[in-house]
Order: sequence, then structure tokens, then C-alpha cells
Amino acid sequence: MSEFLSLGLNRQLLNAIDDLGYEEPTEIQKKAIPKILNGQHVIGVAPTGTGKTASYVLPILKKLNYAQGNDARCVIFLPTHELVYQVHQNLTDLGKYTDLRFVKIFGGGGIKAQRNALSEGIDVIVATPGRFMDLYKTGYINLRAVNTMVLDEADKMMDMGFMPQLNEILEVVPKKKQNLLFSATFHKNIEKLSED
Ligand code: AMP
Repeated sequence: MSEFLSLGLNRQLLNAIDDLGYEEPTEIQKKAIPKILNGQHVIGVAPTGTGKTASYVLPILKKLNYAQGNDARCVIFLPTHELVYQVHQNLTDLGKYTDLRFVKIFGGGGIKAQRNALSEGIDVIVATPGRFMDLYKTGYINLRAVNTMVLDEADKMMDMGFMPQLNEILEVVPKKKQNLLFSATFHKNIEKLSED
């Protein structure tokens, strides 16, 4: 726990970490958390199982701090609805002592419930790219408040053919924001995406 303390996290987060039984930060958490808290853009090359989700979820929760306004300040993209569920669960578990609001957006899930959740006010959107763009284009998502964007499992998103939607998203999110990119592998395509 002492090592988590030295990473600059607050009491609400340390209590949630304690409840989950995490004793020490993993390698990627030690490397990524201070950089993300500092506001740097980060590319993390780490497969699932390394604790990489918490390596971006924890500093994002710290920076958002408390619920504010109606529009999302952070958007997280993942290739499948299973991953959207997992990351949403991680946000809920680690953010349990905050009042931050999280919403899951994914194809196949009831679009009406997703629209309702968005209209109630939200801090973080966890989404698959296709459904996200549908809701954006129909006016249910406003991106003006976004200051952090995460592309997680970026290699899988490219393999699954999400590049056109990712390009559309890059066009409409604010240019001035913190960008975080995570991928199990780092090849030419990912390098190009990170440059974009
Ligand atoms: P991930 O690589 O993000 O898919 O995480 C893999 C698993 O490790 C998840 O079940 C996390 O809840 C768990 N986990 C994340 N960080 C830690 C940690 N510091 N100590 C123990 N378990 C962790």
C-alpha cells in the first residue's frame, strides 16, 4: 500500500484499492500513474493481466475528482462490449468512494437506456467506437468538455476494422486533451495511430 501512496493517489482511491486487496502497484502502474497525473500523453505497451486498466483508471479518477456538469470529460474506447463491461466495472470499483458517473456505450445493448444515462449527466464514457459515433451523430453526446481520451486494446481495435470510426472520432474530439494509448503490441500501424 505504501507504494500506492507514493504514486500520488488520494484517500478515496487508496481505500478502494485496499477493498480490492491490491497490495502493491504492478510495473505498468508504477510507470504510467505518475506520468498520467502529470498530464503527459502516454503510450503503454501491455497485454491484459498486467493491471494496465487500473494504470489509467486510477489517475483519471484522481484528476476528475468529483462529478461536474453534464458532459463527459473523459472518453475510453475499447473494441468489444466485454471489455467495455470490464473497464466500466474497474471504474465503478475503484471510484466507489467518489461521486463520479460512468456510462457504458456499446452496440447490441439497449440504445434507449444508453441515451437516458447520457442525458442524466456523465463524467466518463466507456464505449465501443461504432455505437459511440451513432450516439454522437444523433446529438446524444457532446464532446466539448472532453480533456482525456483513452484508446485501449488499440491493436485489437485495428484488427477488428475500427480504423474508420477511430479516424472519425479523432476528427470530432477536442484537439487539446491528454491522449492515452494502450496496446498489447506495438507495430507500425499503432505508431501511425499514435502520431495521428
Ligand atoms: P488488467 O491487466 O487491467 O486486465 O488487470 C488484470 C487483473 O489484475 C484484474 O483482475 C485487476 O483487478 C487486477 N489488478 C490490477 N492491479 C492490481 C494490483 N496492483 N494488485 C493486484 N491485482 C491487480
